[in-house]
Amino acid sequence: MQILVLPGDGIGPEITAATLDVLRAASDRFGLGLALEEDAVGHESLHRYGTTVRPDLLEKARSADGLILGPAATFDFKDPAHGEINPSMFFRKNLDLFANIRPARTYPGVAGHVGSFDLVVVRENTEGFYADRNMEQGNAELLVTPDVVISLRRITRMCCSRIAQAAFELAAHRRQHVTIVHKANVLKLGDGLFLEECRKVARRFPGITVDDFIVDAMMAHVVRAPQRFDVIVTTNMFGDILTDLTAELSGSLGLGGSLNAGNQYAMAQAAHGSAPDIAGRDVANPLSLILSAGLLLAWHGQRRQAKMFELAAAAIEQAAEAAVAAGEMTSDLGGRLGTRATGTALAARIRAA
Ligand code: ATP
Repeated sequence: MQILVLPGDGIGPEITAATLDVLRAASDRFGLGLALEEDAVGHESLHRYGTTVRPDLLEKARSADGLILGPAATFDFKDPAHGEINPSMFFRKNLDLFANIRPARTYPGVAGHVGSFDLVVVRENTEGFYADRNMEQGNAELLVTPDVVISLRRITRMCCSRIAQAAFELAAHRRQHVTIVHKANVLKLGDGLFLEECRKVARRFPGITVDDFIVDAMMAHVVRAPQRFDVIVTTNMFGDILTDLTAELSGSLGLGGSLNAGNQYAMAQAAHGSAPDIAGRDVANPLSLILSAGLLLAWHGQRRQAKMFELAAAAIEQAAEAAVAAGEMTSDLGGRLGTRATGTALAARIRAA
């Protein structure tokens, strides 16, 4: 399996280095033959090539079997005309990675805020309120006068239907429960359409229990009793906000792994940002990207019917659970290890398994 690795900004290079340690160990242990090719995106790329993402990276990504993208300093990148492009948007849009799969679960040994739970948020990734990707050309935010901005949100039947399908397929392999999160009481057309398409897809999965919540009420429910949720399907921005909450409820944003998947390509990417406040200090939790890389191996294994990749993915998750339970974790989870040492400890567990 060939993986294109793009470490990115802030804590990106640190958590990527730890992730590569773990992947090399998994590759050796399970005979995966991983070929890991690194390249630059974000500030480093802007400095070297005058753009945060070179167009030829798209071809490289298409010819690889998967991508690992570290976080990018998206807040710094304001002017696409000057090469300041959001790398995350670039790959999600151009590779049509429409399903953002964001699991959140508690780990034994981590003092959680709300009791133990295990859920997955399935977030639409290619349209909604994301003005940098919801138009064929141009940007969906318009400066009407210096004091007036209009932001447009795009919702299509096709995108609603395919994200719902992804959620129900996932639920069919879990606890058979899908929760639809929307704001159809106010966004009657857009979220009305989302709800309608989700319910249409639900009819194809009669064994799966379906309920729905208005997004604001959902924030209260997920804090009060996250145990009641299995798979949650929602639109782009609601999913982005909800998953910072679910990751933090599980113990830390540093546990927020995620996979961006389409019909042909997939990209592992931590759910959090570049965390400039802790960059370069060897304190960032690498588990977010390590768990994301595990999801990528599982995706590849299912697609190619390559059992060893699925076993390797399971081994990464089990090693993470055992390491956390043994206190081999970073300070955000109450541990004492640095970023690199967390990766080394996990790699050793996988080699010894
Ligand atoms: P960006 O502008 O790139 O989104 P941010 O700091 O605004 O960066 P996040 O990177 O999501 O947003 O970080 C939010 C908070 O969570 C920060 O205080 C950060 O230090 C913390 N955090 C994020 N990721 C991790 C991690 N992997 N390990 C530990 N703490 C993290």
